[in-house]
Amino acid sequence: IKEEFDAIVIGAGMSGNAAAYTMASDGLKVLQLERGEYPGSKNVQGAIMYANMLEKIVPDFRDDAPLERHLVEQRLWVMDETSHTGIHYRSDDFNEVKPNRYTIIRAQFDKWFSRRVRGAGATVLCETTVTELVRDAKGKVIGVRTDRAGGAIYADVVVLAEGVCGLLGTRGGLRKMLKPEAVALAVKEMHFLPEEVIEQRFGVKGSEGCVIEAIGTISHGMAGLGFLYTNKESISLGIGCLVSDFAAKMESPYALLDALKNHPSIRPLIAGSEVKEYAAHLIPEGGYKAIPQLFGDGWVVVGDAAQLNNAVHREGSNLAMTSGRIAAEAIIQVKRRNDPMTKRNLALYKTMLDKSFVVKDLRKYKDMPALLHTNARNFFTTYPLLMSQAAQNFMRVDGTPKIEKEKATTAAFIKARSRLGLVSDAIRLALAWR
Ligand code: FAD
Repeated sequence: IKEEFDAIVIGAGMSGNAAAYTMASDGLKVLQLERGEYPGSKNVQGAIMYANMLEKIVPDFRDDAPLERHLVEQRLWVMDETSHTGIHYRSDDFNEVKPNRYTIIRAQFDKWFSRRVRGAGATVLCETTVTELVRDAKGKVIGVRTDRAGGAIYADVVVLAEGVCGLLGTRGGLRKMLKPEAVALAVKEMHFLPEEVIEQRFGVKGSEGCVIEAIGTISHGMAGLGFLYTNKESISLGIGCLVSDFAAKMESPYALLDALKNHPSIRPLIAGSEVKEYAAHLIPEGGYKAIPQLFGDGWVVVGDAAQLNNAVHREGSNLAMTSGRIAAEAIIQVKRRNDPMTKRNLALYKTMLDKSFVVKDLRKYKDMPALLHTNARNFFTTYPLLMSQAAQNFMRVDGTPKIEKEKATTAAFIKARSRLGLVSDAIRLALAWR
């Protein structure tokens, strides 16, 4: 007798757990397969987790989810070799009963989420790699094969939540290979420090947290971002740049991280820490234009595997959870109508996703990836250097008349980019941002 499921979910990351939990909670017979030793063992995130999107799936998550700190302060830094110019936003309003953003550690968080998935009734098998999608004579996906003995496993629908590389979908011909300019490679270290040291250094107390996100000369002219996130007893510090830029410049990600750690603005924040973990992972960066076909006969794709990542706002896990939930809700609706899981019926997933913030946000920034990729040197080196010089010129009191200082700053901008260049950069940025 062949065992059949309503749905098979491939992957136990944010998107897979959201999909599996939503379907199992509605009474569907769900099998979730995860290649890692345990859920989260393979997964990397900064990590900021956005509460609103999890609340829509697990409303009482705050009761037992492993949350590190809730964010009361966010700093955006533009850096050069010796300085940073920053916009900081801190508000006591973020000290609310149900905070909006938390730092998390994915290895712990995914384990918790998976316990909830099991609690909702799904069968979760770890250390099981899906090796192939099984199709019927007409090409409809009807199940999967794994690296375990025992043949194929069948289901009405397969949810591909396999993360950014999406090898199964690519090998199965559901989408194209990732392009190096549409994906970033990020490296990250966990720096452990006593809780009170973190609180002192970042001016936070209790479970309050602070994050820093930075661009500038730290990415050596490549399109990239550095980040520092406070956890309870550790700091996550990392940097990521486009894979195409790493390849063209022959830069090493670890060398960038090393330089970031030694930057005079960062070094004192991690001084005396013990590094216990090092991780590297890819991040989808192609935005709206990189979204592949999202559904077909017997399958849907969610999360990073569907390239649903908002690089401008550094959001990924929330898009992953939301797409997983929406895919599950679409599947539930098709099932309730007793309709088959055909491409035509599963199109409902895309219709619903298009109406959500996920696609609306990505569509808003559809031209941003190309702009940043083709103008990396200007946006990630030239302008940060100019901003830094301008800030120092403004701050330094040396007897130079202010009018001369202003003229010198304006002249530096014109010399670096020309009047036409400045106007054209501003227009292109404004157009890509709107
Ligand atoms: P994943 O979490 O990658 O999960 C995919 C799962 O599928 C994995 O568990 C994997 O083992 C499993 N799998 C893959 N192939 C198979 C197979 N063949 N068989 C069985 N299992 C398989 N997002 C934010 O919202 N906030 C942040 O601060 C943030 N920071 C980030 C920092 C870094 C350094 C990185 C790399 C990413 C960051 N992101 C952030 C993005 C976020 O991590 C992702 O968007 C999110 O993890 C995507 O979830 P997912 O479920 O789609 O994929």
